[in-house]
Amino acid sequence: MGLKIYLNGKWVPEQQAKVSVFDHGLLYGDGVFEGIRSYDGLVFQLERHIDRLFESAHTLMLKVPLTKRAMIDAVVKTLKVNRLKDAYIRLVVTRGVGDLGLDPRKCGAATVFIIADTIVLYPEKVYRQGMEIVTVPTPRNLPEALNPQIKSLNYLNNILAKIEATNAGVEEALMLSAHGYVAECTGDNIFIIRRGRLVTPPPWAGILKGITRGVVLELATQAGIPVAEEMLTRHDLYNAEECFLTGTAAEIAPIVKIDGRPIGRAKPGPVTRGLMADFRKLTKRAGIRYRPA
Ligand code: PMP
Repeated sequence: MGLKIYLNGKWVPEQQAKVSVFDHGLLYGDGVFEGIRSYDGLVFQLERHIDRLFESAHTLMLKVPLTKRAMIDAVVKTLKVNRLKDAYIRLVVTRGVGDLGLDPRKCGAATVFIIADTIVLYPEKVYRQGMEIVTVPTPRNLPEALNPQIKSLNYLNNILAKIEATNAGVEEALMLSAHGYVAECTGDNIFIIRRGRLVTPPPWAGILKGITRGVVLELATQAGIPVAEEMLTRHDLYNAEECFLTGTAAEIAPIVKIDGRPIGRAKPGPVTRGLMADFRKLTKRAGIRYRPA
């Protein structure tokens, strides 16, 4: 049957869901996006994702042609028309169709599309045994130049890092800031447990402020685990008791080896496993509920 895609106010069959070659999202990566999950008929943290989307668009002076409420409704309806209970949702707003120049003023209305599809998860083994990552040569974008807090369609920085990880024979890359501090991975934030505290780089390290990152900081606080946002070096990571990544798609993924150094006991640790369990529970209640049609 194929998917039904939301495109500029209508739900169309995926074969007809096309955008112009003059769309500046395609020509220049001029646009913003969100990746969202639904769990058993509940869109997890939908309002936070919509807020972040509008903040990214505001900084780029990109006018989103829907209100936040209408955007929420469009996401929910896209899930319903596709009869999806558990899904990955990609919400994209581009600058729209313009000419071959950069000037965004020449673009008409923004293009909005929403794809809801079944999810492809990391293999179960990653969660049971943990993952290996390596530090890659490409630093994360300078926040003074292009702030990684803008979730823009321009992901070349992360794609270069992903290629470097693949070339090194691992799934995921650790990206540093231009000054050599730990930033994040190509599509996930990073945390360590060190001397009993949960620590993650602050936004000013030049990272995307992940929704999952925020949720994990809250869950840890509720569990009585001391949390901190601090600049971290690779030395801090190598000598951590535990390490994990967070992201909408990955959820909480344990890291057991970095640059060849085993982390802690080189298996998912108790704090990570506790947070994974708490996160699982939260996916059953923190979001917007819908009834798949
Ligand atoms: N960092 C980057 C660069 C990302 O692309 C993502 C995922 N979109 C994240 C972190 C994790 O963010 P979230 O928890 O909101 O998915």
